[in-house]
Amino acid sequence: MAELNFCPRCGLTLTTKEDGGRERIACPDDGCSFIDYGNFSIGAGAVVFDGERALLVQRGWEPNRGHWQIPGGYAEHDEDIAHSIEREVLEEAGITASVRDAVGFRHAIGGGIGGPSTNIYLVFRLDAEPGAPAFDNDEIIGAGYFSLDEMANMEHVQSLSRWAIELAMRTPAGGGLSKAMEGPGAGRPGWTLFALDPDGTP
Ligand SMILES: [Zn+2]
Repeated sequence: MAELNFCPRCGLTLTTKEDGGRERIACPDDGCSFIDYGNFSIGAGAVVFDGERALLVQRGWEPNRGHWQIPGGYAEHDEDIAHSIEREVLEEAGITASVRDAVGFRHAIGGGIGGPSTNIYLVFRLDAEPGAPAFDNDEIIGAGYFSLDEMANMEHVQSLSRWAIELAMRTPAGGGLSKAMEGPGAGRPGWTLFALDPDGTP
């Protein structure tokens, strides 16, 4: 990540400022209040079952063209996280699905060259409407529901995808963090609260 020289908000030459116990790139005192806290991104993946089979898509683009993985992608900065993964499942696999619960997440410091410095990748379990997967034959060159046995005979199934699928198979749907209807900020536009559900399916 190239270091910032000019304030992205007001254009002044940036300086540094002590904030929260460390020196950070910041706008000077006579400028705006901008402080550079670093770069973050949010990704999401979807575990979607049809009986004992899980949905996988095959990458059409590099890196890892030809590899199979659960559908997913980056959440837009102004997009509800549940909506973003439902959108990705529809875009990549032609399946209409809705978020049931969160299976797990990965926090990764670092990232690719030019990529975000820190990423959170959230894996959700989704309930799907029946239907055959469809794909664009460009970004995605294959899609289908596969059993674990079938996956064992496929080349290049992403390990994180298999991990999430096996976890979801071994835990009841709704056993993870679910969208909370009540709680601080639960009804506020743009806010979504995920929480353990004490009344959820055991
Ligand atoms: Zn500024």
